Amino acid sequence: MKCALVTGGSRGIGRAICLQLAARGYYVLVNYKSNKEEAENTLAQIKGKGELLQFDVADKEQIQEVLGGWIAANEDKQVEVLVNNAGIRDDSLMAWMGEEQWDHVLKTNLDSFFYVTRIVLNSMLAHKYGRIINIVSLSGIKGLAGQTNYSAAKAGVIGATKALAQEVARQGITVNALAPGFIKTDMTEGLDEKEMKAIIPAKRFGLPEEVAHAAAFFASPEAAYITGQVLSINGGLYT
Ligand code: NAP
Repeated sequence: MKCALVTGGSRGIGRAICLQLAARGYYVLVNYKSNKEEAENTLAQIKGKGELLQFDVADKEQIQEVLGGWIAANEDKQVEVLVNNAGIRDDSLMAWMGEEQWDHVLKTNLDSFFYVTRIVLNSMLAHKYGRIINIVSLSGIKGLAGQTNYSAAKAGVIGATKALAQEVARQGITVNALAPGFIKTDMTEGLDEKEMKAIIPAKRFGLPEEVAHAAAFFASPEAAYITGQVLSINGGLYT
């Protein structure tokens, strides 16, 4: 059975990606951290074509225990697609940023890439097929004031995307990144869309579905010759 793992699949962009992958025949592992109700909502929307996998992507022991445990117990199921989507921001000017703010954002957005991908990669290598898609950000390309932690983490994932793509290209595994601009989700809820859209050529925030379609493209077998790329989805915001 071909499976897709989407971290942070309970809400926002991750949920939209779960829906796209389920529609393409994948059995979807919907990861979430704490919002079980919304995770179950995602599962209902994919009509039960998957299961919930609760673990904190910032916690390497939990990843090993829960994801490693699932892989060991499900040898008949092959994770062909991994979407590293779970992420947080905790903004502050660098001068006021606490160590905890730095550590938590780096662990959740960057360390998670290493610990989750490493576990899934082994079976992709064994099967000589895989699609890894990392959700990064405009902030990781351009740098945004007030987000030194988040920009550093996302830029780190971009570098890792390009490096890993070269390591595993011969084994039929592609590694790409999607860099959204401003997308309407809980993460951007506090932002003033009216004010921000003045700087966006498309004059609006994007929708989670618009990111999900690009993820589905990178996840497709037809995208086999595209790897190490970062695709911006930002309504034309100059990066
Ligand atoms: P969101 O609506 O805030 O949803 C975040 C998702 O990540 C939720 O499913 C949440 O699970 C999960 N999550 C957070 N921390 C986690 C952890 N430690 N372990 C496991 N799951 C965790 O965010 P979003 O806007 O959809 O963002 C998704 C990705 O896109 C993130 O990587 C974000 O940085 C990136 N991005 C977003 C935008 C934007 O404008 N929205 C722009 C650029 C990049 P729970 O429901 O359990 O909390």
